[in-house]
Amino acid sequence: MTDDSLAVIGAEVRACRMCKLSQTRKVGVPGEGDPHAEIMFIGEGPGFHEDQQGRPFVGPAGQLLTEMLELIGLRRQDVFITNVVRCRPPGNRDPLPDELSACDTYTQRQIETLEPKLIVTLGRFSMARFFGPGPMRELHGRSRDWNGITCLAMYHPAAILRTPTPDMRRIYADDFRKIPLLLAEARGRREQATPSPAPAVHEPTRQLDQLPLF
Ligand code: URA
Repeated sequence: MTDDSLAVIGAEVRACRMCKLSQTRKVGVPGEGDPHAEIMFIGEGPGFHEDQQGRPFVGPAGQLLTEMLELIGLRRQDVFITNVVRCRPPGNRDPLPDELSACDTYTQRQIETLEPKLIVTLGRFSMARFFGPGPMRELHGRSRDWNGITCLAMYHPAAILRTPTPDMRRIYADDFRKIPLLLAEARGRREQATPSPAPAVHEPTRQLDQLPLF
């Protein structure tokens, strides 16, 4: 897929009037990153800093996200980062169902364009989109298949900043450390699914920490 179609989606987000968040936002925040990224991070929605700059995760939560990416040898520009709503909810309130539903068209189109191998959900709204209902304390660090894409549930970085205990930091770092293996597994599955002229030999893969499907 080309950068062009992400750019087209981005332009549509900046001009979007599909929900009432567009009336109070300064700018829409479509998301950013490598147009060929294998990993897509999906957060909740822009906060104050993101609304000013038109870029996702540029405030304190973004600093923690960047730090965690670096822990596993990734840079922001290696991945694609977006949110389930792309305009700031006033006063940073929770996004409402009609706002989530209106913006979901962009989530879906960005996924179809990027074709990521791994989606990492940051926070409960993004988690609910891919995992269904469930408490974060049980689902974080767990993965599942969603339409052929591996999804990994994580706490929102702002939640870690609100509870800055060494334990929470360790739990967060441990969840991030699952990314390289999950990505390697997802790459292996994609290769197996691609027909090749010669029969390919694959190592058996370790059983993933899968959620029971509902
Ligand atoms: N929190 C989010 O969920 N997304 C951002 O872009 C910034 C903060």
